[in-house]
Amino acid sequence: VWQECLRIIREYVPEQSFKTWFEPIVPARLVGSTLTIQVPSEFFYEWLEENYVHVLRRAIDHAIGRQGMLEYSVIVDRGDDKKPPMGYTVPNQRPAPQNSAPPAKKASEPEQLRNPFELPDLDGLELTSYLNPIYTFENYVEGDFNRLARSAGQAVASKPGVTSFNPLMIYGGVGLGKTHLAQAIGNQIKASNSGKFVLFVSTEKFMNQFVMAVRNNSIQNFTNFYLQVDVLILDDVQFLAGKERTQETFFHIFNHLHQTGKQIIMTSDRPPKDLQGLQDRLLSRFKWGLSADLQMPDLESRIAIIMKKLHGDGVDIDYEVIEYLAHSIDTNVRELEGVVVSLIAQATLLRREIDMNLARQVLRNIVQDSEREVTIETIMETISQHYRISLQDMKGKSRKKEIVFPRQVAMYFAKDYTDLSLKSIGYHFGGRDHSTVIHAIQTISELKEHNAEVKAQLQELQKNFGKKS
Ligand code: ADP
Ligand code: MG
Repeated sequence: VWQECLRIIREYVPEQSFKTWFEPIVPARLVGSTLTIQVPSEFFYEWLEENYVHVLRRAIDHAIGRQGMLEYSVIVDRGDDKKPPMGYTVPNQRPAPQNSAPPAKKASEPEQLRNPFELPDLDGLELTSYLNPIYTFENYVEGDFNRLARSAGQAVASKPGVTSFNPLMIYGGVGLGKTHLAQAIGNQIKASNSGKFVLFVSTEKFMNQFVMAVRNNSIQNFTNFYLQVDVLILDDVQFLAGKERTQETFFHIFNHLHQTGKQIIMTSDRPPKDLQGLQDRLLSRFKWGLSADLQMPDLESRIAIIMKKLHGDGVDIDYEVIEYLAHSIDTNVRELEGVVVSLIAQATLLRREIDMNLARQVLRNIVQDSEREVTIETIMETISQHYRISLQDMKGKSRKKEIVFPRQVAMYFAKDYTDLSLKSIGYHFGGRDHSTVIHAIQTISELKEHNAEVKAQLQELQKNFGKKS
C-alpha cells in the first residue's frame, strides 16, 4: 500500500523533496484502513502535515480509499533520551470532529467545510474554526523585525473588537510569519474562554465557498454564516484582487462585523496601498485600523527562532552550527525552518551527529536544489506576473514603458541567474540581439544603483529565485 502511495506522491513532489521527506518514511502497519507510518522526528511529522497533507490525502485516497486514515509514529532519535519511546503516536493536535472518523487529520477539514453555512448551530460551527493549535505566541519569537505586529496582535487577542486596531492588517513577504501570528491571535482568543466564535479562513477558501454559494443560490446563507462570527481572520487577502463579487460580499460582511464591534484580522503579502485590484472602498476600510509589517528577522532573532525549533523537538546542537545556519539563510523563516528540519532528518537517517560538516552538506544540497529550478522560463513568468504583463508582451515588439521596463528586468535576472549567453537570452526574448540585452542589463544595473524603489523591487523579486552560489 505504501509503495502505491509513494508512486502517487512522486507525481506531485519534486525529486529532491521526495528524497528528503518521503524516502525516510517507513510503513509500520496497516490495520483496517488505517495506515501507520514511521517518521524520523516530530519536526518531520509537523513538516509533512504542514506542507504535504494534500498530497498524502490524495495518495491515501488512491491506495486505500476515502475512508483511509493515516497515523504517524515517531522514531526515537539516536542517543536522545528526551524522546518518547518507540512506537509513540503523535497525538492529534488539531481539533478533530467528534463523530465522523477523520481521514488523515488536517486533510479531513475541507470535507467538513463543504457546506459550512448550512451547519445548524454554533457547536457545529466551532468545528470549522480552522485554528491550528501549534501556532502560539509562546513559540513566536519577537524582535525588532516584528515588534509592532506582534504587540498589536497581542492587544487584539486580549481585547478583540475593543482596541482601535480594527481591522488589524498584518503584511509581509512570503514565509515571514503572517499566518503564524494570525493563528496565534485566534488561538489566544479561543483559549481565553470568552465563548467568542473565532474563524480563521484562507482567502482562497473564502472565495471557493462564495463561488459555491453563488452556484447553489445560497449567498444569503453564506453571508449569514459569516455575520455570526465574533473574530474573523482572513489570510492572504491579496487573493481577492480582481474578484469583484467576492469583494462586494466581503465588503458587506466587513461593514456589519465592524459596526457591531466584532474583530477583523487580515494578512496580506503587501501593504494595503499596494493591493491593486481591490476596490477603493474596501482598501479605505482596511486603513481604518492598523497595518503592521513583518520583516526578515535579524541575525539574533534567526538564532532565537532556530533554538526555539530545536528546543521544541528536544534536540541539542552546537551553537556554532546554529550560528552558521542563521548566517546562511536570510530569505525567510519558512526556509530557515526547512533547513533545520532537513538537518535533523538527515542526522537521524544517516545516524550522524549534527555538526558543521553535516550542516554544510545539507545546506549545499538545498542551495543547489533551488538553483537548478531557476530557468529563464521561470524568470520570465515571475516577472511578467509581478508586473502584470503577458509573456507575449515580454517577447513582443512593444516599446511602451510599462512593457520595456519589466522586459529589461527579466533580462537582467536571466543574466544573473542562468548560464545563458547574451545571445541566447536575446533569443528567448523574441529574437533580440545581444546588444539589446547588454543595454537592458546596464539600464537596470544603473537604476538599481541610483533608484531606491527599483532596488527594493529587485530585491523583492530576487526572493522568488532563491540563492545564487
Ligand atoms: P507566511 O504566512 O508569512 O508566509 P508563516 O506564518 O506560514 O509565514 O511562517 C512560516 C514558518 O515560519 C512557520 O512555520 C512559522 O511557525 C515560522 N515562523 C515565522 N515567524 C516566526 C517567528 N517570529 N518565530 C517563530 N517561528 C516563526
Ligand atoms: Mg501564510
